[in-house]
Amino acid sequence: MKEDIFLDPRGGYHPRKILDFDPIFVWPPKPKAFLAWLLKFPGYIWPWNLFYIGIAFISYYFFQPAMSSWSTFNLDWILIVFFRNVFLIILLASFWHTRFFILRSQDDKFKYNLAPLGKEKKAWFLGSQTKENIFWSVFSAAPIMTAYEVFVMWAFANDYLLFPMLNWIETPILFCLIFLLIPVWQVFHFYVTHRISHWKIFYKTFHFLHHRNVNTGPWSGLSMHPIEHVFYFSTLLIHFVVPTHPIHFIFHIQQTALRAIQGHSGYDQLVVNKKSGYALPNASYFHYLHHKYFECNYGELTIPLDKWFGSFHNGTKDSHKKLFKN
Ligand SMILES: [Zn+2]
Ligand SMILES: [Zn+2]
Repeated sequence: MKEDIFLDPRGGYHPRKILDFDPIFVWPPKPKAFLAWLLKFPGYIWPWNLFYIGIAFISYYFFQPAMSSWSTFNLDWILIVFFRNVFLIILLASFWHTRFFILRSQDDKFKYNLAPLGKEKKAWFLGSQTKENIFWSVFSAAPIMTAYEVFVMWAFANDYLLFPMLNWIETPILFCLIFLLIPVWQVFHFYVTHRISHWKIFYKTFHFLHHRNVNTGPWSGLSMHPIEHVFYFSTLLIHFVVPTHPIHFIFHIQQTALRAIQGHSGYDQLVVNKKSGYALPNASYFHYLHHKYFECNYGELTIPLDKWFGSFHNGTKDSHKKLFKN
């Protein structure tokens, strides 16, 4: 029998596919593969980016304070943004958590780590992993992401951004392109800030808190120390130097927060149809390996930064040996 080339981190699900980077930053270019990755279903644009763009549109057109109010810091409109963010975090995290961990709708199918989430009272602040995770998500992530969002909205209303607002009628292609580029920028920013967070001093000061989640659930995604939230959401500051529209930065901040929830949900795929077994891609196995082994996979599969800087774990035993020499 052929030897299994894949590493089996916790006896749970692991994709029987060698992890590889998306066909964007490849040389020579692979236009066919790139277009397929961009347009196929499931692929880069849909379902998930389109899903988060949809949330941004609903937020902007139905739950956004009037632009005329953004020029001064006033709790009336800031609280609308804050509660909208709290609501979205609770909604999305509860959806994945209820489905996977309370109803156990797909049992252990596609679950990376078969152990339950942490319940040892003494090990977790507030008595359990989920409670601790909820605390940091609601009381640190939500206010800090709101602070960034409000700051950019205020700067925008006062004309402090380098470029005026993009207009989708005048520049429709650029307008759409920005939506596609935001997640790529976010991955780059995440790699850089995350890599720095693994420097010993930063790891000990704040990043250790996120890594208490070796086995991750949806609420682990935003369970970070407040200093880390300041790093993590600083991705939004790019709007000071790149021409965008407010709907772009709403999408940007929301997908930065909500994608983390989905990415940590612990289930590689979301079973949509139990009978046929049809499932959509869900969490990030690449990032799961980071939680399991720490010193690998600092970014995501969109940009091959981990490959360029020698920290890429592709899920195989060989790759593991090369990285950890055992
Ligand atoms: Zn993580
Ligand atoms: Zn880390």
